[in-house]
Amino acid sequence: MPSWREALLRNMSENGFTTALLRWFAQYGRELPWRGIGDPYAIWVSEVILQQTRIEQGRDYWLRFMERFPTVEALAAASEDEVLRLWQGLGYYSRARNMHAAARQIVEMGGFPRSVKGLRALKGVGDYTAAAVGSMAFGLPAAAVDGNVYRVLSRHYGIDVPINTTRGKRTFEALAQELLPSGQASAFNQAMMDFGATWCTPRLPRCIDCPVAGTCEALHTGRIDQLPVKEKKLKVKERRLSYIYVRNGGMTALHRRPAGDIWQGLWEPLLVEDGPLPDLGCPLTLVAGGVKHVLTHRILLADFYLAEPAVRPVLPDGYVWINEREIADYALPRLVEKLINKLP
Ligand code: SF4
Repeated sequence: MPSWREALLRNMSENGFTTALLRWFAQYGRELPWRGIGDPYAIWVSEVILQQTRIEQGRDYWLRFMERFPTVEALAAASEDEVLRLWQGLGYYSRARNMHAAARQIVEMGGFPRSVKGLRALKGVGDYTAAAVGSMAFGLPAAAVDGNVYRVLSRHYGIDVPINTTRGKRTFEALAQELLPSGQASAFNQAMMDFGATWCTPRLPRCIDCPVAGTCEALHTGRIDQLPVKEKKLKVKERRLSYIYVRNGGMTALHRRPAGDIWQGLWEPLLVEDGPLPDLGCPLTLVAGGVKHVLTHRILLADFYLAEPAVRPVLPDGYVWINEREIADYALPRLVEKLINKLP
């Protein structure tokens, strides 16, 4: 039995979930070449490689990487080209570039920072990697929270706060931190990673022989496939609007926006959306082009024209002619107000 498993079994904590998880880890934790060696460099390299790579593929890359650059000094001394060549096939090359730059930062500092804050300050190192490296290499009491952890905790504790919101992130980070057993952050973080990756998987989790099935909320309430919850992000739609401010004898035409769309009930000048500009019997002068206006879930790009026909044109139903001086009495969308202020 490898030494990390023995040490783990000797130091079990008292919390039910944590104890069961650590026990499970001692039995089923994956044998990975960077495990149990406590070398911050080796751990860091593995974490960066595994950020967007499956473990089977990542393992080979890690071995090759460690063979060519066995120390952080060796990595720092390499050329970027060489690092990128070795990275070839893994994709997301910014990871390799950041890692190379961070290796130089580390060498300049005289070694790895030994705090989460210090690790976090390295190029390309986020909260998760800082906690993972800090706990595994230096025993820092920091919970590493990633997708696996969200899934396991949301299911086991029946938490339906969306994981892709600030509130969700805070909730799960706080819970993981609370569960962290004293002196065993490294084992706990690795146990959560392995358990989420191999047992409590997104689809078809192994509830039948799950070590925490007895206390799993999702299992007992039939919500496994509903947890974790993700808030649907509405796609930001882009709309192109062309407004024509028609001026005739000190009068201008406005219409009231209909129900069922943005700015319901507000007033605006002649609007053309997704169509050709109308013939108003005079040239159209572009006053402002491509004015960007951002609304929730929508980006508006507006062109604003001025038309000064000699004869008042016939406009579609719903347009009313008002005295230009009275325009301030009408409730206008902010974008329209902005455009009107640009009029000569
Ligand atoms: S019982 Fe199933 S859903 Fe609950 S923690 Fe275990 S594997 Fe995950």
